[in-house]
Amino acid sequence: MKVKLAESCGFCFGVKRAIRLAENNSGAIVIGELIHNRREIERLDKNFGVRSAESLDGIKRGDRAIIRTHGIEKEARAELLAIAADVIDATCPYVTKPQKIAESTSEEGYQTVIFGDKKHPEVKGVLSYASKDAIVVANAGEIQGAALRDRVALISQTTKSIAAFGEVAAALIAKTSELRVFNTICNATYDNQEATRKLAKEADIMIVIGGKNSSNTKQLHAIALQYCADSYLIESGEELRREWFADKRLCGISAGASTPDWIIEEATKAIGAFELLAGLD
Ligand code: SF4
Repeated sequence: MKVKLAESCGFCFGVKRAIRLAENNSGAIVIGELIHNRREIERLDKNFGVRSAESLDGIKRGDRAIIRTHGIEKEARAELLAIAADVIDATCPYVTKPQKIAESTSEEGYQTVIFGDKKHPEVKGVLSYASKDAIVVANAGEIQGAALRDRVALISQTTKSIAAFGEVAAALIAKTSELRVFNTICNATYDNQEATRKLAKEADIMIVIGGKNSSNTKQLHAIALQYCADSYLIESGEELRREWFADKRLCGISAGASTPDWIIEEATKAIGAFELLAGLD
C-alpha cells in the first residue's frame, strides 16, 4: 500500500500565528480554546503554561490574556480590555475581515446574513458586530422561511465550502432587491478542501487527522467521504485500526488547519507500522 499526503493540509497561517503568539507569552490565559485541537492545547499548557479559561470570569485583573483564533464577541472584547493588564489578539485576520464587513455593512443599512454554524465561536463573534436583525443560516434551504429585508449583505463562516456558499447566495437573489456577497472563505480552507478532494478521488482509504470539534477538519472528512467510502476522522494514531487497511492500494492522508505537523507525523508512522506488520503476516 502506498501512503500519500494531500498537497495542502495541516496548520494554516492563522493557526501558526496563534501558536507563535502563545509560545511567546508563557503563562497567558486564552479565552476559550486557542485552536480546535485538544492535543496541541495540552502541549501549550505543559510546555508554556498557557491555559484556557472558559469565559471572562476566569480572567483576573492584571492577567495577560490571549484572544483565540476564532475571535470573541465585540462586548466581550471591550470587557476583556478593561480587565486584563495585557491583551494579545490572536484572532486570525481572515476572521477579523468578516467582523469588519458585518459592522460596516450594518452601518450602511444592510441586514447581515451569515452562512455558518450558529453555535461556532467564530460565527457568534461575527454576529456580535452586525445589526440586531442579522441571521445565521446553515444551508440554502433555510433562506426560504427567513425574515429578510430588501438590502442584504451575505458573509460566510471562513471554513465553509464555496459551492454551498454559492447556493445560499443564489437562494437570496430571489428574495432581495439588493444583495452584496462577500467571499470570506479563507484560502487555507479552500486549498485544503481541494487537495483532499483530489486525493480522495484516487485513494481507496482516506485518513483525515484533526480535532473532532474542528469545523474545517469535519468539512475535510465530509469531502473525503464523497469520493472515498472508507474515510476516517481521527485525532491521534492510536485510533487507527489495522483492519481498515486490509487490501488497500493507496492510503491518502489529509489534516485540518489546526492539526500540527507532529500529530500528522505520528499518525503517518503508525500507518507505516501496520504496513510492516502486514509484511510479517
Ligand atoms: S483556517 Fe483560515 S480562517 Fe481559520 S485560522 Fe486558518 S487561516 Fe484563519
